[in-house]
Amino acid sequence: MKINFLTIFPKYYNAFKTESIVAKAIEKKIIEINIIDFRNFTLNRQNKVDDEIYGGGSGMLLMIEPIDRALESIKEKTKVILMSPQGKPFTQQKALELSKEKSLTFIAGRYEGFDERIYSLIDEEISIGDYVLTGGELPSMVVADSVIRLIPNVIKKDSYENDSFQNNLLDYPQYTRPAEYKGMKVPEVLLNGNHKEIEKWRKEKSLENTKKKRPDLLERKNYD
Ligand code: SAM
Repeated sequence: MKINFLTIFPKYYNAFKTESIVAKAIEKKIIEINIIDFRNFTLNRQNKVDDEIYGGGSGMLLMIEPIDRALESIKEKTKVILMSPQGKPFTQQKALELSKEKSLTFIAGRYEGFDERIYSLIDEEISIGDYVLTGGELPSMVVADSVIRLIPNVIKKDSYENDSFQNNLLDYPQYTRPAEYKGMKVPEVLLNGNHKEIEKWRKEKSLENTKKKRPDLLERKNYD
């Protein structure tokens, strides 16, 4: 999969590209990451990407032209996603859907956001939650990270199959060494090597965990 990030702050993505699982996926050529600074696509001498808002009001708005021209520079067919607090709330279901695409392009906003005509250029508008951040770089990385880990061969399938939200359930409790810490013991069932019993325990605990922390998930037929 190719992932394009349109931004005016390309350095935000430095660690994203060079660390951990994403870096390994790039190395294995499963994904390719392309950072596009849309300031390079301005036609004015000062490389201005923003301007005052028609009708007045405080703050500046991103102009459509540099973003339009930056999008035109992408040669492959790509799904264009606008990062915006006004978008559809992001979910695991959406991550799974996007993980099947060949190319994704995320547009990160800044300032007061985008000129309304941006909607003529995009396929989807996604929000990462009901709060407002200063820019779309972090939201675009949040979405891309959750998509990348679902692409075949990036991580082992069983690493995400039981993850929270996969089946409208939260993950089951997990433990590592030591078997006892300050009097707190790892449940006996996990130490006895009986895989059938372990699987049964995990299913029960996953349901228990969901009932306790997110009962709303159990009422949903489809988590989207
Ligand atoms: N005035 C805009 C509004 O109220 O809808 C908010 C602009 S915000 C300060 C600047 C940029 O940050 C947005 O254009 C968007 O790209 C990004 N952003 C902020 N909060 C976000 C969220 N919850 N989800 C996705 N993107 C977000």
